[in-house]
Amino acid sequence: MNRNKIKKIRDSEKIAAGEVVERPANVVKELIENSIDAGAKEVRVIVKKAGKTLIQVIDDGIGIPSDEIEFAFERHTSSKIRGIEDLETLSTLGFRGEALASITAVSQVEIISRTENEEAGIQLYIEGGKLLEKKEISCLVGTNIKVKNVFYNIPARQKFLKSDSTELGHITDIMQRYALAYPGIHFIYRHNDLDVLNCPVNDLKTTVFHIYGKKNAKYMESIDYSEEDNDFKIYGLLGHPEVSNKNRNYSSLFINHRYVISDLLYRAVQEAYKGTLMVGKHPFFILHIELDPSAIDFNVHPKKLHIRFENEDYIFNKVYNVIRNFIEETFIEKEAKYISTEISDYISNKEELALTDEENESQAASTSKRTTQKIVEVRDESKDLIDRKDQMVEESVQLHLTESITKRKSIKKQMPETYIRDKYIIAKNFPKIRLIPYTGQLSNNIYVVLEGTSQDGEQGLYILDQHAASERITKEYFLKMYESSKRSKQQLISPLKLEVNPSEKFFIESNLKEINMLGFTFEHFGGNTFILREIPTIMGKLPDVKIINEIIADITEIGKDKTFSEIKEEIINYLACHKSIRGGDELTLKNIRNLLIDLANCKNPFHCAHGRPTLKFISFKELDKLFKRTG
Ligand code: ADP
Ligand code: MG
Repeated sequence: MNRNKIKKIRDSEKIAAGEVVERPANVVKELIENSIDAGAKEVRVIVKKAGKTLIQVIDDGIGIPSDEIEFAFERHTSSKIRGIEDLETLSTLGFRGEALASITAVSQVEIISRTENEEAGIQLYIEGGKLLEKKEISCLVGTNIKVKNVFYNIPARQKFLKSDSTELGHITDIMQRYALAYPGIHFIYRHNDLDVLNCPVNDLKTTVFHIYGKKNAKYMESIDYSEEDNDFKIYGLLGHPEVSNKNRNYSSLFINHRYVISDLLYRAVQEAYKGTLMVGKHPFFILHIELDPSAIDFNVHPKKLHIRFENEDYIFNKVYNVIRNFIEETFIEKEAKYISTEISDYISNKEELALTDEENESQAASTSKRTTQKIVEVRDESKDLIDRKDQMVEESVQLHLTESITKRKSIKKQMPETYIRDKYIIAKNFPKIRLIPYTGQLSNNIYVVLEGTSQDGEQGLYILDQHAASERITKEYFLKMYESSKRSKQQLISPLKLEVNPSEKFFIESNLKEINMLGFTFEHFGGNTFILREIPTIMGKLPDVKIINEIIADITEIGKDKTFSEIKEEIINYLACHKSIRGGDELTLKNIRNLLIDLANCKNPFHCAHGRPTLKFISFKELDKLFKRTG
């Protein structure tokens, strides 16, 4: 690998300026980019205390000549770019020639480097941008740089750093993206003497295996597309709809080997997956796009994360078409079953419906046999409501229905005396509420109608938002469990083996105790595998591995930018509104009553975890006014 001399960049002020170093992960990124540019085959990253005390990067690249090394630490000096015009043909990761200068300005740096042509290497100590020592040293060809105590001289910045788990999460993210961007480089990444990632030189699929685990790797298909003139290439791995995710962070896009965040290209890929994924799911992919550097403008962001294209429509359509063709061939035509997510859902819903209809009939039939007292006629849409009421018969609540139920007529007005016990739910600081004959779910299982007396003694109608209510109940359940020593959890008869990715592993390991306090007992099994032994009682039966993995992924994501005390509430809110924890939407009357009792027992029964109301009251007086019954 040839190297150019390090020189001052002309017109450097025209290159997107901004903070290069805001957190340890930025340092890691700049340093490994330099190693990659130096042609390294192996890059070893050693981090202590989430990069706050030490970030060391050792590479076997071409090294820095001893007579240039000092100059490399000055602002806007580079061996890669000479002037702004070079950004047009950018083929290295270098950018503004200021990474080393920015890093040494805020930390204590020790660097050892040697080129092939030199007998010995050179060692420098630089602190807060000042060179303290320079000496010859014997060492291997390559560069070994230690960055200690980032922001040691800017306490305000140091304070701004997040928890170790958050900062480490950012570093891990960077390491993963670069391992995916350069499968031809052996990346080793250790934190506090533990291996976090060790990705030997391999094909992309094996790298995905190292990072995202067996299952994800198994479900990825290789794409390799290039155009005759080789000016446009797309290659990488496209995940099958099976391994879609709830958020898009797992996917990576690389343009000319740079990891980028491009909403435009992301949308192009997502659009290409249309019809294969369930609503709210994102495709999983690792895609490399290579194109003429002059068509892209990297000069919009100091960290080079965002880009602009000369012709956005052109690139969008191009990417969309290539990916769409591939998806149609690979996931839709060849394996028709993969498109089935939506269709099979649709079919199974239909089947369920059909079944329910039959069940309804038989249930209704048995109801009519058992109940023979007063006549109640029902409207069509009240049919399944009555079916649910059937279950209440078994719960010794006297519900009297008749044969006419199945005949679907309309509710008679004089129903009141014929049904449920005259029983109110009474609790401190809670209105007196009871179920009424028409109690049931409205508007696709969103609302429940009830009757009661407000705390001011007004009588009227209560409308319960069942989701909001159960969210509140679940939230208080988790809060209580977290704050007391009593854990309401259930042991799994067959513990669940879960494969996680490095960030998730780190998150679980560093918050094992807190996660346990929420009712989940994880045990490290080795590698990236955990055993889940207990789950919160409120979850009822154990959900699918997929759902547990989804919960872990989401919680890790929530934990990424926050300290634990901040995320505690967020995680509880998340758990509180998670469907598989909250339970199904169909409620029996017993469920409704229990929901009300649980809600009445809450400390803050009137608002859900997100602050929406759980219960609304319309007094009969107001109704009278609405209907102009009062003057
Ligand atoms: P840039 O990467 O934009 O050129 P940097 O401040 O990151 O600017 O680095 C300045 C110069 O130092 C680089 O252009 C390169 O010549 C040299 N350099 C930095 N790190 C390494 C390394 N690990 N191996 C070889 N040369 C390096
Ligand atoms: Mg650089």
